[in-house]
Amino acid sequence: MRCAVKVSDLYYTYPDGTEALKGINFTAMQGEKIAVIGPNGSGKSTLFYHLNGLFFPTKGSVCINEEEITKKNLDKIRMTVGLVFQDPDDQLFAPTVWDDVAFGPRNTGLSKREVEGRVDNALKMLNIAGLKDKSPDNLSGGQKRLVSIADVLAMNPEIIVLDEPTSNLDPRSSSSLMHLLLDLNTKMNITLIIATHDIDAVPLYAERIYIMDRGRFVAEGTPGAVFADAAIIRNSRLRLPRIAHLMEILQKEDKLPIRNPYPLTIGEARREMLKLAK
Ligand code: ADP
Repeated sequence: MRCAVKVSDLYYTYPDGTEALKGINFTAMQGEKIAVIGPNGSGKSTLFYHLNGLFFPTKGSVCINEEEITKKNLDKIRMTVGLVFQDPDDQLFAPTVWDDVAFGPRNTGLSKREVEGRVDNALKMLNIAGLKDKSPDNLSGGQKRLVSIADVLAMNPEIIVLDEPTSNLDPRSSSSLMHLLLDLNTKMNITLIIATHDIDAVPLYAERIYIMDRGRFVAEGTPGAVFADAAIIRNSRLRLPRIAHLMEILQKEDKLPIRNPYPLTIGEARREMLKLAK
């Protein structure tokens, strides 16, 4: 399996002196689904800006498909890595939704027909074809987010990096967006790297997670292994998934013989409970 993203010893200091990243090492294998979790200000967005060359390291390196990002290969990198910003207003700028989604493909030298096909397909996948003639300024926060994801899908990237993609979405839109992303991963082996505060949903899709705090990763591993250490999670100003928290209470306070790594999802908890009931 190929290494899709490799970040080595990455440091980044903003011009005002804020040391936002302090020695980050991160890998994503091709086709992997990774969640990055951390409180506000821990450095997730700053890291993500490095993954498609919006930012360059103060120190360290970022490789995509084993090629280091430099000023010379930015066009190629941006066709490979699609970045969905945390705030869609930072991304949307064209007079209509259709033009916004067409902007990327138009700039890659595709024919008019291919551009139209890409745009129509991306709008359809996100169920927003009906918004195509609207101005992005006149959309709700959730609709803007879907357009910003369509922008990225229309580029057919191999790697999609999403900064809190479900914030601002109602529960149904949030769950259908996650289904769509997982579908792209399954059918097209697209690598997914997702920063999220939706800790309860993480065990449903992530194969590996990174916990970020104050510009560093403080834990990395499978959701089961990482959430087994509740102290690290809480020291990082985060919480366990609610199901795991319930299991922890049942184990520690009610003395039920529940295993740790705790069950993290309703399905896992149900199996554990049925086993205990027998
Ligand atoms: P997160 O995405 O996890 O919320 P960020 O990457 O946005 O975290 O921020 C990491 C740190 O960098 C924070 O301390 C934040 O205040 C700081 N920061 C973010 N943007 C800037 C900027 N433009 N100038 C200076 N400091 C910044």
